[in-house]
Amino acid sequence: MKILALLFVLCMIVRLAFAQENAAEKAATSELPSLLSIYKDIHAHPELSTREEKTAAIMARELRAAGCEVTENFGKYDNPNMKCYGVVGIMKNGAGPTVLVRTDMDALPVEEETGLPYASKVTTKDDNGRDVHVMHACGHDAHMAAFVGTARALQRMKDKWSGTIIFVAQPAEEAIGGARALLKAGLYNRFGKPDFALGFHDKADLQTGHIGVTPGYTYANVDSVDVTVRGIGGHGAYPHKTKDPIVLAAEMINAWQTIASRENNPIDPIVVTVGSIHGGTKHNIISDEAKMQLSVRTYKSEVRDRVLTAIDRIAKGVASAGGVPPDRAPIVTVDKERYTLATYNNPDLTKRLIEVWRKALGPDNVEIVDPTMGGEDFSEYSLPDHSIPAVDFHIGAVDPEKIAQFKKEGKELPTLHSSKFAPVPEPTIKVGIIGMTSAVLELMKK
Ligand SMILES: [Zn+2]
Ligand SMILES: [Zn+2]
Repeated sequence: MKILALLFVLCMIVRLAFAQENAAEKAATSELPSLLSIYKDIHAHPELSTREEKTAAIMARELRAAGCEVTENFGKYDNPNMKCYGVVGIMKNGAGPTVLVRTDMDALPVEEETGLPYASKVTTKDDNGRDVHVMHACGHDAHMAAFVGTARALQRMKDKWSGTIIFVAQPAEEAIGGARALLKAGLYNRFGKPDFALGFHDKADLQTGHIGVTPGYTYANVDSVDVTVRGIGGHGAYPHKTKDPIVLAAEMINAWQTIASRENNPIDPIVVTVGSIHGGTKHNIISDEAKMQLSVRTYKSEVRDRVLTAIDRIAKGVASAGGVPPDRAPIVTVDKERYTLATYNNPDLTKRLIEVWRKALGPDNVEIVDPTMGGEDFSEYSLPDHSIPAVDFHIGAVDPEKIAQFKKEGKELPTLHSSKFAPVPEPTIKVGIIGMTSAVLELMKK
């Protein structure tokens, strides 16, 4: 008798779990037609980072329609003259945990070459006054459609969860600074500190219908470093009367690569890229200085500190070994404004959500994917010490047949930011809604 009762309870639990997943899928399917028209509208009318005025208005309208209390123009950039178009929608449903759900809103200065009927034809002037085309080449438009779908689905399923959801439509992800602008304006003081933070991003090499996720570090710390190598200029024919900053710069570039190979624990990935080098004016003049711009990528904060210190030490050491006087030592500056912290997917939370997604999408449709050394300012929401458990997961955006065909032909698929990249809207947005809705329900279930 006891066994029968136990079996009955187990059956009820399984049935309830399935009912919840089916409810997420059902809500996603019924909302899809109207979400696709929102998606195509946003895709055809992209806005550059920090200028997301019209896009933010759509997000505010949709969150309000989904029953949220909405705050617009939220956020504070360092430049007081810049308006911030952050949108925060609060969905309250009694006592319980607080979960933050984030989408990004900005597009890129790319000329669209997808040939889609709803392709962007938008042009504008960038911050330097140059004429540029604008395109949603990173798929943030798909994120927004799935974000709105998630809000609608959770509004309809209020009997299945309790607590508070903070929906955040974030500006300026590509330019870095959007998430920080929202936190600086007191996102957590005003709307409450979340117990969990969730984000998603489409993936340009993952098949539609699949969710991908990386437990632990998924995106890197990204730092920008400027180095001015100061020498003593003179005639190109008399190097012995000069200190050549270009030769010193070349030595520094090689020596910096030994940080990865000789100073660093090989299991901690690091990248030191010299993306720009400029010095001199003419064949026969040894210049006074050379300037370099570096991109430095790491995961752990102690590795980040060590690499940045090593870059400075090596630059100064090379100059000193070359006989540059101390008052002409290189100037090494780490940009304290433009940096991205590493995104860390809380391993326990990731494990929990993988189980949820396997049930919702099928066990073969959830993939563990490799981390990248790219950057994502979603990291800000979990705070620098990762004290708020967070997960930023991937949504497959490419037709599996297209992946197979490109593989067969030995060709690379268009990457994010490519003029030819566009997610397949229907399954991508639908899986985004199912993935996000089922994750929120898991964390807030009654
Ligand atoms: Zn991007
Ligand atoms: Zn992106």
